[in-house]
Amino acid sequence: MCSRFMSTIRHQLPHTMKYILVTGGVISGVGKGVIASSFGTLLNCCGIDVTSIKIDPYINIDAGTFSPYEHGEVYVLDDGGEVDLDLGNYERFLDISLCKDNNITTGKIYKQVIEKERRGDYLGKTVQVVPHITDSIQEWVERVAQRPVKDDKKPQVCVIELGGTIGDIEGMPFVEAFRQFQFRVKRENFCVAHVSLVPMPRSTGEPKTKPTQSSVRELRGLGLSPDLIVCRSERPIGQEVKDKISNFCHVGPEQVICIPDLSSIYHVPLEMEANGVLSFLKDRLQLNIPDPFTKQTMQRWRELANRVDNTRGEVKISLVGKYTKLEDSYASVSKSLQHAAIAAGFKLNLKFIEACHLERNIKKDNQLLYYQAWQELCNSDGVIVPGGFGSRGMEGKIRACQWCRENKKPFLGICLGMQAAVIEFARNIVGCEGANTTEIEKDVKHPLVIDMPEHHTGTMGGTMRLGKRTTIFKENCTSTIKKLYGSPKSVDERHRHRYEINPEYVQRLEEAGMKFVGTDEENKRMEIVELDNHPYYVGVQYHPEYLSRPLKPSPPFMGLILASVGKLKGYLNKGCRLSPREMSDNSSDDDDIPVQTTNLTNGINNIHLNGTATSSSNDEYEK
Ligand code: GLN
Repeated sequence: MCSRFMSTIRHQLPHTMKYILVTGGVISGVGKGVIASSFGTLLNCCGIDVTSIKIDPYINIDAGTFSPYEHGEVYVLDDGGEVDLDLGNYERFLDISLCKDNNITTGKIYKQVIEKERRGDYLGKTVQVVPHITDSIQEWVERVAQRPVKDDKKPQVCVIELGGTIGDIEGMPFVEAFRQFQFRVKRENFCVAHVSLVPMPRSTGEPKTKPTQSSVRELRGLGLSPDLIVCRSERPIGQEVKDKISNFCHVGPEQVICIPDLSSIYHVPLEMEANGVLSFLKDRLQLNIPDPFTKQTMQRWRELANRVDNTRGEVKISLVGKYTKLEDSYASVSKSLQHAAIAAGFKLNLKFIEACHLERNIKKDNQLLYYQAWQELCNSDGVIVPGGFGSRGMEGKIRACQWCRENKKPFLGICLGMQAAVIEFARNIVGCEGANTTEIEKDVKHPLVIDMPEHHTGTMGGTMRLGKRTTIFKENCTSTIKKLYGSPKSVDERHRHRYEINPEYVQRLEEAGMKFVGTDEENKRMEIVELDNHPYYVGVQYHPEYLSRPLKPSPPFMGLILASVGKLKGYLNKGCRLSPREMSDNSSDDDDIPVQTTNLTNGINNIHLNGTATSSSNDEYEK
């Protein structure tokens, strides 16, 4: 019934694009991205096709050159765009594929305007912020909003998230652009949701509305009136507080909603729906959504949120990386592990291990760190070595790979993690002493991992093999990872690297038992490696974490989680089908892998509404 109903609704909707601008007040990092994505999810659940645009008012052209300590993980899109990790929220929540133009930065807008000026397009006029920059922003938004993000269909609603908070100098041209934009597209096609913070200082324990009042006043002063004020708070706020905000901020009480801290981000769309957001949007944007429809289609989302809250077992995964103190460095990897754990009915207990703490050098300087790191590794059910750049921690990653291989610990190596696994195998099994990657040792005797031709060292940013590429599975080979993907001929996944496995060593590695089961379309580049006689030992040159979705976990991650809880064999035997209930009991169906079970006493780990990026991931340009 759903799809027919949805297509009727699509048909009924006028073709005018509707825009929801999400701004932030008081402070950043309160979950504006999740709230903005949740607007999309709600509409999506009603059969409306939603796209999104994230605006980052910094001057950088894109996130490709960010230091890991600045903005968290660099998120990679199908078209190779290296963008802010918030775009990952949209892709995951809405199950869409965005392109690099869906991320606007001040740098991109100015670059475009300056190029036009150099071409003489402004016919000798003085080029100014108003109207040239503001026009350029509006045109960009209108153009990109039309672009299909799913099934080649033109979206109907575009959620625009303006990064930072209202009042930031950098954000001003964007606020002015949207002040003009509201008249350009007409009132019924544009609304503003302002996400604010209502602090509850411990001294009084009372919710404080003053910061929200000030930020709304500032927004109004700049010519934008909020249609919805979304108050983030630690605990739910009472009606009298909402009334006060409504009074002081010149909006109706139904326009003030509260999203308190929740047990998982998956509750946010549900909480918003419970607060009447959908019916508000329906009226305000004149959307044609029949009421009963909403309740039914939120069901899948509700089930997901419940599944997160009601896991019965725990799976302990260690992530061996370089920026482990800044967990947002690995945001998509953590989310992918969560998706897989949720699907399997397990609570993810993710531990971050600093790779260099596993190295022998540290043992001399700080035995405690060394033994703690090894104890953590040994206590885990499975290990992941994610992507990375540069030499720091590489030997620790290689040691982690060796330990997993020798001790039959489920292992997934991603990009640099796969390269580390291959180097380890070459050193310790093939006998290539001192094997290494040329990224770390230019003239190494056994260059197991080498520069790709695409690697040109001129300008910074966008110089890697980036974006979605096809991996072809070898024919007639038995492969766990191929089965996990459902035994297709090929898979498309996103890439971000400039080194590759040296093809000259592939035959020797294969003869020693390392199987390369997937290559690029020309059969030159090694994309997937795995070991037999091991519960799960898989390396992938691509980054599967960018295509994992809450309701569609990524197969390599699914493999790692299931192997870690001893349920991979059963899952594969059942044709990769899994009933969540069945998977959540604590018994193992893989005799050879002991399942560690732990009593669950805490709430959900690692999922918090305020989990937006504040720091860290791309170590690419870190010295
Ligand atoms: N530094 C490695 C390369 O460029 C791995 C990159 C990554 O893990 N994303 O090939």
